[in-house]
Amino acid sequence: TGTVLDVSDLRVWYAGAGGPIKAVDGVSFRLQRGEVLGLVGESGCGKSTLGRGLLGLTPSGAAMDGEITFDGRNLVELAAKGWPAMRGAGLGMIFQEPMTRLDPLMRISDHFREAIRSHEKVSRAEADRRALETLRSLGIPPSRYKNYPHEFSGGMRQRIMIALALALQPAFVVADEPTTALDVLVEAQIIKILSQIRTTFSPAMLLITHNLGIVGQACDRVAVMYAGRIVEQGTVAEVFANPQHPYTQELLGATISLTTTELRTIPGAPPDLGNPPPGCRFHPRCPHAMAVCAERLPATTDFADGREVECHLLQLDSLTSDERSPLTR
Ligand code: SF4
Ligand code: MG
Repeated sequence: TGTVLDVSDLRVWYAGAGGPIKAVDGVSFRLQRGEVLGLVGESGCGKSTLGRGLLGLTPSGAAMDGEITFDGRNLVELAAKGWPAMRGAGLGMIFQEPMTRLDPLMRISDHFREAIRSHEKVSRAEADRRALETLRSLGIPPSRYKNYPHEFSGGMRQRIMIALALALQPAFVVADEPTTALDVLVEAQIIKILSQIRTTFSPAMLLITHNLGIVGQACDRVAVMYAGRIVEQGTVAEVFANPQHPYTQELLGATISLTTTELRTIPGAPPDLGNPPPGCRFHPRCPHAMAVCAERLPATTDFADGREVECHLLQLDSLTSDERSPLTR
């Protein structure tokens, strides 16, 4: 099959003062070769923790459970043995927290030679060939190969760091969109870089973003995360046209504005992941909440088109009339 990554019931918990913080709490999805999955949701819903967990980059003290099947191995077990083993497994991270930072005293060429040759036994000439090809595909001319980091603009340095991750030819990449004021890439540049990555390298990619414009232009599928769980996933076209989960509907707005690509602000706040609400975690904010929603986590409903939605509304037939009554808050 073309499945590159198969994530099943993944949990990433941190130790918190009042008990575990369940930042990722039972997440399942698959990625096919060359597929880009957008991961959206409000800040603090566990998106970045999921992305980091997939690469074994969780801080010490975090507990991981479940399965991340990649290249025939369960990375959850591999991660317990440490990050270097994971890095050898063909995984990469771009945008935030790149695996390799630029050393101001080292030429770009030396960064590439060191990164590639510490990873694979290839000649210096082969490392250079691959580095130059990767840099060129991201718009950095070969004439700049011997330059030092300070000789580039901020945007070029970002692209060089992306090229460094891609020169290792990862089969799976996590791209965590830059969101701080210090970031120098704007939406149009990010979309351009992502499309260059797709056409040139086509790794399977998890793209973590707040920006629905980027999802619309750069992703095949989208997963919506709320309070540590994926509540809806499906193709971008279908989810955007016809969101099924009340949270997705709120997030996207009644219609997606063509001018505003930022996620809508939803009344209420995301829950404390150290003490999430029982049942469906969205119930305190859900306009459609029923009695059952405060009691029981909804099962996943699978649609023929591959859509998966975690909401009791899609399994009304299995509920009693008491369970279906509106939630009294
Ligand atoms: Fe709303 Fe209930 Fe569906 Fe949760 S399960 S999204 S509370 S209707
Ligand atoms: Mg984040």
